[in-house]
Amino acid sequence: MRRRAAWALACVFVAFSIVGVLKPAYAAVGCRVAYALPSQWPGGFQAAITVTNLGDPLDGWTLGFTFPDPSQKISQGWSATWTQSGQSVAAVATSWNGLIASGGTVSVGFTGTFGSANPVPTTFSINGISCVGSTTPTTAPTTSPTAPPTSPPAPTTSPTPRPTASPTTSLPPAGDVWNPPSSLAQPLAAVWSHEEQTYGDLYGFKNYGWDQLFAGGGAINYCVRWDSAAHVTAAQRDAVAAALQRQYQKWMNQMLDNGVAWNNWPYQQVPVKVVGWAVRDRTQLEWTDTSVDIYVNNIRENAPQCAEPCGRFFHQDGNYSGCPGGASHHYDHSLWLTAGFGGGAGGDWGQRIGSEYFMSNLTVDNIHILLHEIGHTYGLDDFYDWDPLPGQGFLMKAGSATSITEFDKWMFRDFWRHLKSRYGR
Ligand SMILES: [Zn+2]
Repeated sequence: MRRRAAWALACVFVAFSIVGVLKPAYAAVGCRVAYALPSQWPGGFQAAITVTNLGDPLDGWTLGFTFPDPSQKISQGWSATWTQSGQSVAAVATSWNGLIASGGTVSVGFTGTFGSANPVPTTFSINGISCVGSTTPTTAPTTSPTAPPTSPPAPTTSPTPRPTASPTTSLPPAGDVWNPPSSLAQPLAAVWSHEEQTYGDLYGFKNYGWDQLFAGGGAINYCVRWDSAAHVTAAQRDAVAAALQRQYQKWMNQMLDNGVAWNNWPYQQVPVKVVGWAVRDRTQLEWTDTSVDIYVNNIRENAPQCAEPCGRFFHQDGNYSGCPGGASHHYDHSLWLTAGFGGGAGGDWGQRIGSEYFMSNLTVDNIHILLHEIGHTYGLDDFYDWDPLPGQGFLMKAGSATSITEFDKWMFRDFWRHLKSRYGR
């Protein structure tokens, strides 16, 4: 477990999370839970729970279990936010223990009361995935362009570099613009080298946010996956769209120096439009106008999803002929908002964050978990297992910064300079 500063980040990345752009379809969640009773007295007890992460790094987690006996009640818990409904218990990560590295552990506990018996819970889950002591691929889109593994990844205690394919694009030509602050040059080179070593298809992958942005002529469309039972007003709908526009532009602004585009970047402003909402029940959306497409009860990964014929992830050739509204109604990214989700996830399919977190932070300056996840959509990596910039925080190092830093900016720009020849720039 790594401790982080005491503000709330929980980047995360879980469910696909962690998942950088190149591995959108097969982040593995695996966990083992040990439940102990260090002390017990008539009618009361103390429980100590240790969660071991057997899968990819978790950025935000919710531990769930069920008390076997209806009389078992939690009195006071620690190292998590505890809630109990009937016999079901949920413990949500705090701001400082949301990140669990692969192989890492986190310990939480509580005191409780019971009636005649105090049996030990036998099944546990992390972020809704049952802890069976091995990894389970999570909620991947059902059609993946990246050939997910045919069997779940094996538990691992350290990241395993994937084989590296020969680059199909060479380094930028000599004389190309690359002018980061000198103090960042070496760390940036290390980051890019790490990208090359980690991702076998770094240069061949064709669905980065960059690709999607250029395919859309400099605009991005979103569809919201409303994975919550809450209702949404028209005002909230519009606030979601405005927040997305504002946060997205923060990344786009990294390509500008005082309004002047860096290194042949073509876009000053990137329009971000929410074209659709997916929900379980139409009545959750409290508007009657037709300003956005609405998809009802189209369930994928146990969550509402916008129509696949309209989604970039499913139609990377840009053929949206099966989309009812046509190409103008297509969506590039999904914004997957999940109730009770403490972390985040990002990839070429979009971003996933907690619905409560997002809806309660619509007007804050930096919705940092969303920003972090958008970084993944544009190819930026996580830094769970190494640190190119010791002692300095940055957004993509989960938990160390709450806004886009100079280092994040130059990592972003490095991606652009390596890919821009694709777009004739
Ligand atoms: Zn991340």
